[in-house]
Amino acid sequence: MAVLPIYQLPNPILRRKSKRVRSIDGSVRKLIGNMIETMHYIHTAGLAAPQVGFPLRIIVVGIPEKGDIVLINPEVVRRKGECLVDEGCLSVPDYRGEIMRAEAVTVKGRDQNWKEIRIKADGLLAQALEHEIDHLKGILYIDHPETKIYKIEPEEAQF
Ligand SMILES: [Zn+2]
Repeated sequence: MAVLPIYQLPNPILRRKSKRVRSIDGSVRKLIGNMIETMHYIHTAGLAAPQVGFPLRIIVVGIPEKGDIVLINPEVVRRKGECLVDEGCLSVPDYRGEIMRAEAVTVKGRDQNWKEIRIKADGLLAQALEHEIDHLKGILYIDHPETKIYKIEPEEAQF
């Protein structure tokens, strides 16, 4: 396992639509393992594969008390409510923003064993899932038209 470098703006891979994963093979398994290790190493709540240079529909999310979640080909199938939240992104260093996210989401996809899963989430987990799934479409939180972006000191905790 290895800690992977995080791609930052203006790297064009962050703006590409990621490809669906067709099956799990050794390289996908390795990528997932490395993404989890990288997420833990940098203490971030989630990572999307394009952020580490792979335009594939894979995300990992790790929220305290919820454990690590791996989602392949994830889709938000239901959004409920709206709330204003504070958000940042490792691929957009030195900034954070206030953004409207759903209060709760239902997400479906497959886990690392290719089993279909459905996750109902609210709070930070819902926010992280929306954020990471946006990455797979080439969308960053700063793209949401109502986001208020502000500058921060380097090294503050970020997604
Ligand atoms: Zn991000």
